Order: sequence, then C-alpha cells, then structure tokens
Amino acid sequence: MFTVAKELEGALGRTGTIATPHGDIRTPAFIPVGTRATVKAVLPEAMSDLGAQALLANAYHLYLQPGADIVDEAGGLGTFMNWPGPTFTDSGGFQVLSLGAGFQKTLSMSATGVEADDVIAEGKDRLAVVDDDGVTFKSHLDGSMHRFTPEVSMQIQHQLGADIMFAFDELTTLMNSKGYQVESLARTQAWAERCLVEHQRLSAERTHRPPQALFGVVQGAQHEDLRRQAARGLVGLDSDGTGFDGFGVGGAIEKENLGTIVRWVCEELPAEKPRHLLGISEPDDLFTAVENGCDTFDCVSPSRVARSSRVYAMTGRYNVMVAASRRDFGPIDPECDCYTCAHYSKAYLHHLFKTKEYVAATLCTIHNERFTVRLVDDMRNHIEAGTFRDFRDDFLARFYA
Ligand SMILES: [Zn+2]
Repeated sequence: MFTVAKELEGALGRTGTIATPHGDIRTPAFIPVGTRATVKAVLPEAMSDLGAQALLANAYHLYLQPGADIVDEAGGLGTFMNWPGPTFTDSGGFQVLSLGAGFQKTLSMSATGVEADDVIAEGKDRLAVVDDDGVTFKSHLDGSMHRFTPEVSMQIQHQLGADIMFAFDELTTLMNSKGYQVESLARTQAWAERCLVEHQRLSAERTHRPPQALFGVVQGAQHEDLRRQAARGLVGLDSDGTGFDGFGVGGAIEKENLGTIVRWVCEELPAEKPRHLLGISEPDDLFTAVENGCDTFDCVSPSRVARSSRVYAMTGRYNVMVAASRRDFGPIDPECDCYTCAHYSKAYLHHLFKTKEYVAATLCTIHNERFTVRLVDDMRNHIEAGTFRDFRDDFLARFYA
C-alpha cells in the first residue's frame, strides 16, 4: 500500500504514496481531524479545496454517538460525512483512557522528577480501569459504563469503515514509573496480536466493504529500550505475512525528545511501510518528525485554536482578537493562498469574534488547516527538490523569530 519516492539524505525522512481504496495520499501529509465525523465548523468540500488529502475521525466518539452500527448502515464513515477521499480512525484507546480516566491534566504536566502511577490508579475521579483483557470506562457524555477490548475496537473500526485504522493500545503518561511502562507495553503487544486476529476475521467476513489497513501503535514513553522493543515486537507479528500495514507512534512525548524518540522507533520499522505520528501539528514538531521518518500526522489543534481566534502566519502564531486587528484590512497572512485570506480581512474576523458569529470559526479553521496542510506539502516538495534543510531553517527562523 506504500511506495517510497525520495529519501532525505542523511536522515530517515522520505516522500512516498499511500494507496487506499478511496485514493492516494502523497506523503509526508498532514491529516486534519474530524473527531465526530466532521471538522468542526467546516464543510468537507472546503477541506478538499484547501488541500486536505484525508481526514481522521475518532472511534470512541462515534461509538458513543451515533453508534458504529449507524455509520456502517450509512455506508461507512466517508459516505456518512460526504467525504469521498481516504479516511483514518484512531482506536479509541487514547480517549477511553484520557477522557475516561480524567487524567488529561496529568498528560500536560511537567514530568520532571515525578513518577506517579497513583495519579491514575487512585484518583477519585477515575473513570477508566485497565485490566489485561481491556478497559472498562464511563462515558463522558452520560456516565454510562462501557468496555473496550482489542476485539471491540476492531469491530467498531470495521463498522466505521475507514481506510486506515489503528490497533487498540494502552496509553500511559510520562508520570508512570518504568515498571508500569514495561507492564503496559506487554499488554499493548498482546492487544496488538489480538487486534490482528480480529481484523483478519472481520476482513474475511465483511467482503462487501473495501479492504481496510491496520496500523500497530508503538508505545514505550521516553525510554529507548522500551520504544525499540515495542517497535520490534509489532514488526515481529508479520512472520506469516499478515502483519500490520503500517505503524503509529503513540504516547505522551515531551517536545524536546520528539526527534530522538521518533528516530529510535523509525530505525526499527521497515522502510516499506508507512508511519503515522499521532497528535502533532506545531511547525517545529512537524519538521522534526518528517526529518526523522514519519509520513503522516494528525492533530485537532489547528481547528481548536482557530475557534479561539488564534491563527498561524509565516511570521508566527497570533490572536486575531488583538486590538491591532480592529482596523487592519489585510488578510491573516499575506503569504497564505487560502480562501479566507483571499476574501476576508483581519478587521472583519476581529469583528466576527467580538460578536461571536459562527462564521468566525469557519474562516479561521479554513486558514489554519490550510496553513498546516500546506506546510507539510511544502516539506514534501523540498525533500523532492533536495532543499528540505534550507527550507526548514528559513521557515523556523521566521516563524519563531
Ligand atoms: Zn489563509
């Protein structure tokens, strides 16, 4: 399903093409997130116009509402949401554990000198319980109890019908002790094996649907031995030719270690399979991840920050609500080629946010998604032209000046 076109000299980065039943994805590529089968505030047609090649939805949210069976009856995720291109779903593991356990705060806390399995295990708001067979959790919508196992995650993702799915894994945080990480990794490896078995079974049963690809997810937190062991473990499941079609790099990763961790993992992964880094979109992180061998990326951030009036420009990120925008009739970013920048001024967007008009979110989301998609497209073009590092240095110097 993946062909490498050009390799970045002296590093693991490359360009390539992922072929899916709903079209090709030229990589590296940024994949915008439509958590509940919609990119908030923006029509799928606009996502296509701004250059999005694929969209990623979330299995946990769609399982709770409307239910995976309804998406299946509709003809699958793409048909349901009127997106004809390739789609991804994540396994639900991250949301089950982060929303369920209520430890989202823990994930963003500094991990320096702190190791506390108890933050998760003993918290009185604990809504998710992990055992070797799966995770039992409380819905963040209505408090009802649910259970995800590797098999359930596969059944849900087959019903959702995305071209690329992810294996069900256990999310740990940087605050977990190494002992816990070792234990968790063994569980994620066992779950990966069970996901593959269930995926084969469902693929054989559901021949009325286009074939779906399954990516294994490499955990192991900030530990080199665990990351490498995790990657080798998942790659090793391919002995009979029915292994993972690609790999995801998951887990909480501190910004300063991103490149190192991605490199450890990508050094262990087979070059002929695609690699997805879950949950990043900041420009410096994207450069680091592309250089170190990742092919696709997803993140809610470009649309999330757009809804609170924060926008990207070649000269950095800023808030369009600042007073300086009130009488500024220029676009968000004079170098941007998006629909919003072609037709709307900062003064107008400032006014829309001030008056809480819905279209403010639409226009800024179109801009931020275009900015991010285009940045990664440009990285691809510069790898192909042999000018990636010059492009990176110039871009980062201006953006973070
Ligand atoms: Zn723009």
